[in-house]
Amino acid sequence: MGSRQVTSWQDKNITVAGLGVSGISAARALAGLGASVTVVDNGDGDAHRARAAELAAEGITVRLGRLADGGHAGEVLPEGTELVVTSPGWKPDSPLFEAAAKADVDVVGDVEIAWLLRETGQERRAAAGGPRRDPAPWLAVTGTNGKTTTTQMLASILKAAGLRTAAVGNIGTPIIDVVLGEQEYDVLAVELSSYQLHWAPSLRVHSAAVLNLAPDHLDWHGSMQAYAADKGRIYEGNTVACVYNVADPATENLVMEADVEEGCRAIGFTLGAPGPSMLGVVDGILVDRAFVENRQKNAQELAEVADVNPPAPHNIANALAAAALARAFGVEARAVRDGLRDFRPDAHRVAYVDEVASVTYIDDSKATNTHAAEASLAAFEPVVWIAGGLAKGATFDELVQNAAKRLRGAVLIGADRALIADALARHAPEVPVVDLDRTDTGAMLAAVREAAALAEPGDTVLLAPACASMDMFANYNKRGDAFADAVRELAAENAADTA
Ligand code: ADP
Repeated sequence: MGSRQVTSWQDKNITVAGLGVSGISAARALAGLGASVTVVDNGDGDAHRARAAELAAEGITVRLGRLADGGHAGEVLPEGTELVVTSPGWKPDSPLFEAAAKADVDVVGDVEIAWLLRETGQERRAAAGGPRRDPAPWLAVTGTNGKTTTTQMLASILKAAGLRTAAVGNIGTPIIDVVLGEQEYDVLAVELSSYQLHWAPSLRVHSAAVLNLAPDHLDWHGSMQAYAADKGRIYEGNTVACVYNVADPATENLVMEADVEEGCRAIGFTLGAPGPSMLGVVDGILVDRAFVENRQKNAQELAEVADVNPPAPHNIANALAAAALARAFGVEARAVRDGLRDFRPDAHRVAYVDEVASVTYIDDSKATNTHAAEASLAAFEPVVWIAGGLAKGATFDELVQNAAKRLRGAVLIGADRALIADALARHAPEVPVVDLDRTDTGAMLAAVREAAALAEPGDTVLLAPACASMDMFANYNKRGDAFADAVRELAAENAADTA
């Protein structure tokens, strides 16, 4: 499927599903190549209409909301459609895709389109006076957690090596715009979600990493196997390296199942001492035993653990994966160190907020699933844990079992907090738990006060909710901001008390 019929975009009837950032980018790019584009979306609020008017002025058809015959625009395949381009978030069993399957019409995503347009972008830049050359190779990252961080670390390392690069995919400028844009790149650091991989059948990247695999988004993929299979697509056709997590055998299995180019190597990363063809850690140093001469005997020092920001175990794993991809691309050791030192994580990812009364407050609001929360809890001890929100069908037993011995206490907020309370009662009955029984926005200040009361000097209070935020906040950013505001208020009260 996918690119089977795409030899020219001229006059091709393409339906774009979704009038969001990626849908608009795809619609404009394809219309610009002469395709006849229709964007469909069930929404028809003011924002949708304003966007639709802009696109209509560019010759793009937009069908919104309810149709005259009673159907929904986003569910009906327009007559004559030859290809459907989907946006992130649309489920594979959406009626539009079912209609496409019935009509034997391919469905692909923005990443597939970007991949297919790489040559076109290169020709455009050459026509504008740029050099004639092959399109920039892609170094790709996926996994349940750590994708954005690792992709940004990778871009930082590539930049430190003097390469022209950008972190794209799930982040930053839409990938189609980057591929077709004026800016010339030497290599791209590409974050890919399992959804994007699902809809990108012809993707064949230089090297790729799967950071970890834990149950997530199973409602979308249908099963853990389907989810893993979509993630595993990232390795298909790799030319230089398939990077896997030694501690997560499921990632190595995906490498073994992948059909790669001759000579492509499996490269492991580990927080322990690395074997041959691995990157790992020895005495606080990140070392490479994969991209060195005589890897049976030699190892190359890359950076110190202290160069990783923040130096939490899961983040050191991210740094090793980024380093492996950069090294697969031929980047020298010094650039790995410099790139890691330059890297600044995005907000709400194990972010230091403040220290109040000798207790450190850390915001990991982005820990929206149990696997992420478990990783960040593993980085602190003793820790007072603030958790709760929407569980999305998760269970908390394993997380609590693994974290129990580090917990000074727990404060629970949000809709599904009882699930966490039950797991704590089962596996950590001695840990004091404050169940706030609140889902209003003011609950965060109350949670921080309760956490402060449980904490002893030297402890960490960690917001790592293991849940989505939408029961209480617009998104995880707002939840993290509320936490930081609450900590500031606590600090002010504390300063007033001690003054
Ligand atoms: P993604 O883009 O995959 O959502 P991020 O880099 O934004 O990942 O990190 C999201 C959260 O996942 C972080 O706040 C942290 O709690 C957790 N996390 C990051 N890296 C890892 C990892 N390698 N393993 C487990 N959890 C991680």
